[in-house]
Amino acid sequence: MSNERAQGLLLDRLINSPLQHASQSVFKDMTSYEALCKEAQKEPELFWSRLAQEHLQWDHPFSHVLDKSHAPFYRWFDDGALNASVNCLDRHLGTECEHKVAIHFETVDGKVTSVTYRTLYERVCQLANALKERGVEKGDRVLIYLPMGDEGVVAMLACARIGAIHVVVFAGFSAIALHERLQDTGAVAVITANVQCRSGRELPLKAGVDDAIALGGCEHVGTILVYERTATAWPRQEGRDFSYAELVSQQPTECAPVSVSAEHPLFILYTSGSTGKPKGVVHTTAGYLLWAKLTMLWSYDIQPSDVFWCTADIGWITGHTYVTYGPLAAGATQVIMEGVPLYPDASRVWKTIQRHAVTTFYTAPTLIRALIKAAAQEDVYAPESYDLSSLRLLSSVGEPIDATAWRWFYEHVGHGRCPYVDTFFQTETGGHVITPIPGVTPLVPGSCTLPLPGMDVVIVDEAGEPRPWGQGGLLVIASPWPAMARTLWRDDERYRQSYFPEELGGTLYLAGDGAVRDEDTGYFRITGRIDDVLNVSGHRLGTTEIESALSRLDHAVAEVAVVGQPDPSTGEAVCAFVVLKKSDYGEEVARQIAQELRQQVARDISPIAKPKFIRFGSNLPKTRSGKVMRRLLRSFAQGEKEAQDISTLEDPSVLDHFSVIY
Ligand code: ATP
Ligand code: MG
Repeated sequence: MSNERAQGLLLDRLINSPLQHASQSVFKDMTSYEALCKEAQKEPELFWSRLAQEHLQWDHPFSHVLDKSHAPFYRWFDDGALNASVNCLDRHLGTECEHKVAIHFETVDGKVTSVTYRTLYERVCQLANALKERGVEKGDRVLIYLPMGDEGVVAMLACARIGAIHVVVFAGFSAIALHERLQDTGAVAVITANVQCRSGRELPLKAGVDDAIALGGCEHVGTILVYERTATAWPRQEGRDFSYAELVSQQPTECAPVSVSAEHPLFILYTSGSTGKPKGVVHTTAGYLLWAKLTMLWSYDIQPSDVFWCTADIGWITGHTYVTYGPLAAGATQVIMEGVPLYPDASRVWKTIQRHAVTTFYTAPTLIRALIKAAAQEDVYAPESYDLSSLRLLSSVGEPIDATAWRWFYEHVGHGRCPYVDTFFQTETGGHVITPIPGVTPLVPGSCTLPLPGMDVVIVDEAGEPRPWGQGGLLVIASPWPAMARTLWRDDERYRQSYFPEELGGTLYLAGDGAVRDEDTGYFRITGRIDDVLNVSGHRLGTTEIESALSRLDHAVAEVAVVGQPDPSTGEAVCAFVVLKKSDYGEEVARQIAQELRQQVARDISPIAKPKFIRFGSNLPKTRSGKVMRRLLRSFAQGEKEAQDISTLEDPSVLDHFSVIY
């Protein structure tokens, strides 16, 4: 390794950011973190049972903790009964939380509505009553297709209140994707809006539901409830379609909650579709809710004075756990933003933090990269132009964050004062899995550090044998945990095969991501999805590692994705798709940057990892949740015509720009 590289690595090491206002924190130091990990390891059932009793409000206490008799279909706190909406709302009434703001909702035109816990409770009860009036019962599926806003949160909790299973579908999805989810779940009702306001336009939403239903086989949908976001008219079918004003506004503001078993499904949520056809992940009530609340306390040290802002849409697991269930179960105040954070421009993010005095900012690497690109263009987009002194914690999720972007966020947004909580988790895990404890775990840029207590994370080889530190392998979770997915909707077999493969012995939960533990610290680093590992001349290379090296050329590079391409001499060749910070570059500049990029990789990793093919374009293909779709780039690089599931792709035209190879 070159000296320069070794020095870079040293600089990248261990940053200890003290956490402000941490007097109430669960963890005082690494010793208390380790003690809790030990407790979980020694007596897992006692550990989880203690936490479930302490943190959830039960209608009926549980006496069994874990039922393994049908593993890998585990059951937790099986004979206990509770209601998720009670744990998020009723529980706070009569406490100092009752009149506290639960949600500051900011519309695209900058209008702010602040909803207290009391008001939220009443709105949820009204909607729950309306659903009941339409005959929706416990166990029925209700599909939610709403723009990002407080109404979506109300809809989720209203379902939970009557024991209906919600299926939130991101409002950017097409009628075809919606149809697939309607059919798969057999939803009896849809909650939608007449339109959604995004990027300066009004887009019809209710019409999309009609188009989906028109595709056939959706006779089970008996009710469509339409929230009127604007005065724009919408197509109506009498007897099936109702406006909020008609059906909801007149309802009583009290609705008795339906007490459900701990194992009653709370929701079905389809994964992002980064690696293939989306999977309908099923989460149940108690275990999921417990982890949503605990991780708010552990990963975010959430305090009564905090203002939490998670930019995720409720259409994704991050929105479920860290917009709806986590913050509300923890009694937090949060910000919810309509539309996209970058519209009308990047300054909206900084203005929002400033306006609401946000303390905890949780976002995705894709947004961070876009913010970096914008900040380089004009001062009004730079975080330095705003007062962000309220921030005490920064966090991201969704993709690996490279050390360069990590540092920018940490230094330019957090001014080196705010711990950076890189959270690794998945739809299937319900909540955070590997995450630093803020103010406690020393940080390493680009590493999600260590598992939370109770998460038995191990790296194994292809036969399920543990790998030593320093050697990459498959990330698995070796013991069940309460927030784990229970199955894929009506597809137990696919669940078993996808997550508990026989090759690994059938008992390890396979995350589908590669990882390596640092030789000195034991910290975890996610090296990319298993499907994305490249094999160049017999060397296994993680896409993330090569991408991180390319991103270090940060004066030029805004975003990059690496895939493998079959090659006659090396088996596979590295192909890099690069988006530059400046769009007005010529042939000559492109050639020069391509050369610099190759040198960078040769220096940082090895000449073997140098991209053989470099392509420049203006945007990478992403899922609607903002993740790079490498599977698509892979088939594009191979010159294959698209034959994949692209229902979750944001903009199919972006690939056209990458045709020239350098
Ligand atoms: P699909 O399963 O349909 O391909 P998806 O995996 O993108 O979609 P999600 O469940 O939303 O759907 O995303 C989880 C995945 O996101 C993880 O498996 C991992 O690949 C990636 N990820 C999430 N957080 C991090 C992180 N902090 N660091 C690295 N990767 C992350
Ligand atoms: Mg996945």
